[in-house]
Amino acid sequence: MRNSDIERNSELVESLKQFFNAQSTAAPRTSLCAKCGSILRYLPTQFWLEGDEKGWNIRLPYCPDCHPLPVTKETFVA
Ligand SMILES: [Zn+2]
Repeated sequence: MRNSDIERNSELVESLKQFFNAQSTAAPRTSLCAKCGSILRYLPTQFWLEGDEKGWNIRLPYCPDCHPLPVTKETFVA
């Protein structure tokens, strides 16, 4: 792997980290679905980044009416 590729990859990881941190800290009490207006629920989701030992546990909002059968837990590997 060339140095430029490594730098680009670490930049991507950093931006992903910032995104996940923003998602996990931003915790509005009640969010409403933009489509149907139902109160959104939160799905505990775990993210792992390659090369990092620690993953992120964040809660992704989903609409129980528009998406009545969400997976209970998903793991994303970036
Ligand atoms: Zn909805």
